[in-house]
Amino acid sequence: QAKAEGRNAVRAYASTMQAAAERRLTLERDMHAALDRGEFRLYLQPQVDGEGRTVGAEALLRWQHPTEGLLLPDKFIGLAEETGLILPIGEWVFEQTCRESVRLSQAGYRLNLSVNVSPRRFQQSDFLERVRRILERTGANPHDLIFEITEGLLVSDIDDAIAKMSALERLGIRFSVDDFGTGYSSLAYLKRLPLSELKIAQTFVKDLPDDPSDVALVRTILSMAYHLNLETIAEGVETRTQLDFLKESGCTRFQGYYFSPPLPSAEFFEKLA
Ligand code: C2E
Ligand code: MG
Ligand code: MG
Ligand code: MG
Repeated sequence: QAKAEGRNAVRAYASTMQAAAERRLTLERDMHAALDRGEFRLYLQPQVDGEGRTVGAEALLRWQHPTEGLLLPDKFIGLAEETGLILPIGEWVFEQTCRESVRLSQAGYRLNLSVNVSPRRFQQSDFLERVRRILERTGANPHDLIFEITEGLLVSDIDDAIAKMSALERLGIRFSVDDFGTGYSSLAYLKRLPLSELKIAQTFVKDLPDDPSDVALVRTILSMAYHLNLETIAEGVETRTQLDFLKESGCTRFQGYYFSPPLPSAEFFEKLA
């Protein structure tokens, strides 16, 4: 009987695996079509200064799936990375971000827009050219744009990364390290790269100010950023207590549900007005 149970368990496992593989394939096929069908959406989450003024926003991708509803990046970005679909999708995200930036400045707002750049896109040999082309096509001001990169991008080919970042910096684009402190890269790159901002990961903000290790980590990051002349922004700020602690510790920018969730562009504009 134990044997039969074992067989059933194996069979159940196999069919779960098969279902997962089929889901993946369907999702991949749907994602291919999603670009043509215009199912991707760009949401904007406000970034505020110490006085609570909105000084920027992060552009975050959403997928309005025809049957599954509004999908968050966790559901599809990984697969997009694996299949290479992140290249056209990332290109779409950047172009939309540029268009929003132009709309904002036409409406009289001077805000920074941050956009996530996947390592795979950044590593494309013609990445610079592609960025330049979209800037030209949209007329966006590069000085209003910030590229959020991850530490993972920096461990692969540091010299190539430095060359590309420097060229983009000359255009006026700034760089922020997303989820700072969660990766594996060495601190030495902080000195070598043309960075302008460190973004404190949500995992370190979550348990502030009760968790003594998080307190120590966040203080260390803020002090290091100060001495290296880098801006700081904390993500995932959900409570007044977290905000107060971060402010007292010298953080100057904040992003999180305490202020606002990511919003569809129309709602973001309404909120500004
Ligand atoms: P991220 O770049 O670190 O973005 C911050 C994430 O935290 C966003 O999740 C945001 O909605 C969420 N968040 C903001 N405030 C709070 C808060 O107060 N509490 C909590 N619990 N969460 C908060 P989202 O939009 O689901 O994006 C997840 C990740 O997907 C992003 O993390 C980013 O790594 C990736 N992603 C999003 N859009 C793009 C994109 O256009 N391109 C690429 N390559 N990656 C993207
Ligand atoms: Mg980000
Ligand atoms: Mg982040
Ligand atoms: Mg991230």
